[in-house]
Amino acid sequence: MSPPERARKTFDLSRHITAAVGAQKAYVPGDQPSESGWVKLNTNENPFPPSPRVAAAIRAELGTDAASLRLYPNPASAPLRAAAARYHGHGLGAENVLAGNGSDDVLNLLVRAFADASKPAGMLVPSYSLYPVLSGLNAAAMRTVPVGLDGVFDTAAVAASGANIFFLTNPNAPLGIAFAPEKIAEVLEAFDGLLVVDEAYAPFARADAVPLLTRFPNLVVTRTFSKAFALAGIRAGYALADAAVVAALDKVRDSYNLDRLAQAAAVAALEDRAYYDGITAEIKRARDAASAALRGLGWRVLPSEANFLMASPPSAVGKTPAETAAAVHAFFKSRKILVRYFPSNPVTAPFLRISVGSAREMETLLAAAAASADADSSSSAADAADAAPR
Ligand SMILES: *Cc1c(COP(=O)(O)O)cnc(C)c1O
Repeated sequence: MSPPERARKTFDLSRHITAAVGAQKAYVPGDQPSESGWVKLNTNENPFPPSPRVAAAIRAELGTDAASLRLYPNPASAPLRAAAARYHGHGLGAENVLAGNGSDDVLNLLVRAFADASKPAGMLVPSYSLYPVLSGLNAAAMRTVPVGLDGVFDTAAVAASGANIFFLTNPNAPLGIAFAPEKIAEVLEAFDGLLVVDEAYAPFARADAVPLLTRFPNLVVTRTFSKAFALAGIRAGYALADAAVVAALDKVRDSYNLDRLAQAAAVAALEDRAYYDGITAEIKRARDAASAALRGLGWRVLPSEANFLMASPPSAVGKTPAETAAAVHAFFKSRKILVRYFPSNPVTAPFLRISVGSAREMETLLAAAAASADADSSSSAADAADAAPR
């Protein structure tokens, strides 16, 4: 005999979810297609594999039977903190490093520790669109300061923003433009709050903010293994900061926030500087070559110190710059080339953000860029022909 049918219990989620989570729109990451065959230039992943030492370290951690996975990992990621301190030098010790499950985890910990309903967060616009999602989830207001396509922003506006924690992406994403260390020092002097310099792309830049840590206890520098270290799939990142800030973040994080394989991989990556110097130099050369080639096709390309280009195609006849960018984005997609497009902000809408991929991927991209101009001129020529009296 089957049990009697019962009516399904009702549960009104909207009445129970917290106001902050209920109101927040989810962050939308770039497409991660599951089929192969795409030229994937949309999420700034590295075209090179990680150091061979990474695979060796993961294999050593696993052994033949993965028995080590029975045991919890080092709770503080202590070997990784020590390796990161050694990697950067500048008198930093393990007490100045917090390891995270990707740098997005570190950013989340920073928001949870330093922003809430009475302590606003702040950011440059445009920059990384994850920050307002994290602040929103913690019921914190987000104060914004505009940055121009020339990379200029007003230090006094950051100081007057009322933010308790301010995110400065350097080099900026999505613009690719880097800020001078002197400018960052000026902000650190003027701003009465915690300044987070998100250095996801700093390994591709000429300078970084790490040397400023000795002078400014209100500075946090965040780094990721996802871009220059070619480990987006492993999920590891870290923050460098004053020991008191690190201790505060340690209270907030999960007690085992990096798994064994991630810790082993990240340490091995930091210990192979020669390999990463080589592939980083290669990516910078490819970036500068692609930038010159796009300019040759009439594109406007912002000066990039990252592993991507923010580039605007020449306006097609009868189309606005934003409409042109949308059309080229769609044209690329029709050729199975993914790039990032940010139409919601009028400043970024005329641009496409193109990751620097392998030599072959860049050839494919540049051929498509050339063909998009032909597609445009032939269609506008066709339009003109249609309009012309016969
Ligand atoms: C990619 C990126 C990160 C995130 O890196 P993960 O370590 O993969 O979480 C953080 N900030 C910016 C600006 C990025 O572009």
